Amino acid sequence: MSGEAIPDSPAPDPVFGVGVQLPDGTVLCKACGCEVEWSECEECGGEGGHDGHEEDALWYHPGEVAPCSGCNSEGGHHYCPEPACPTGAVGLVELDQKPLFIPLKREYFEAFEAGRKTWEYRRKGSRWNAETCAIGRRVTLSLGYGKGRRMAGVIIGFRIHGAPAELPGWTECYGSGPGKAACLEIRVDRDGRDQIR
Ligand SMILES: [Zn+2]
Ligand SMILES: [Zn+2]
Repeated sequence: MSGEAIPDSPAPDPVFGVGVQLPDGTVLCKACGCEVEWSECEECGGEGGHDGHEEDALWYHPGEVAPCSGCNSEGGHHYCPEPACPTGAVGLVELDQKPLFIPLKREYFEAFEAGRKTWEYRRKGSRWNAETCAIGRRVTLSLGYGKGRRMAGVIIGFRIHGAPAELPGWTECYGSGPGKAACLEIRVDRDGRDQIR
């Protein structure tokens, strides 16, 4: 008999493991406890999307990012680097549901307090992304890192901004280098009840 041998055992399925996100943004493999690593999405080069304005100028503002279907706009996936661990890609990251800690300079803290500010911008990365800043997650706004003045709130909106230099105060904090901004819309708790918007 000639012809190609057809392997009768399919390629092993990747084992999708579970990660646990700690409050500092670190993700640990739930199976072995080691810190997972990040693999960039090849479809979007880790950007989590592409230039939406170029694709649809009516829907997207300049610099706004249209979602990537290859990585569900995550920009990539976590994987466990430990060879002995059965976890390959981390398919699910469980959030530690502690409030997200957001230290702020005085002027921004007071602007939140006075209701003049509702959005906070951070450089997008492992600590600030759609997972760590999931809508509905509680936050602690803190004046600096001290315990003196804090406010509780909740994330009510999240988006990635592709041209963060346009954002107020961005260049002053982060410079004009490349990168995207994670934009968190935050509603501060008022007198124990949610502020009416
Ligand atoms: Zn592992
Ligand atoms: Zn992608």
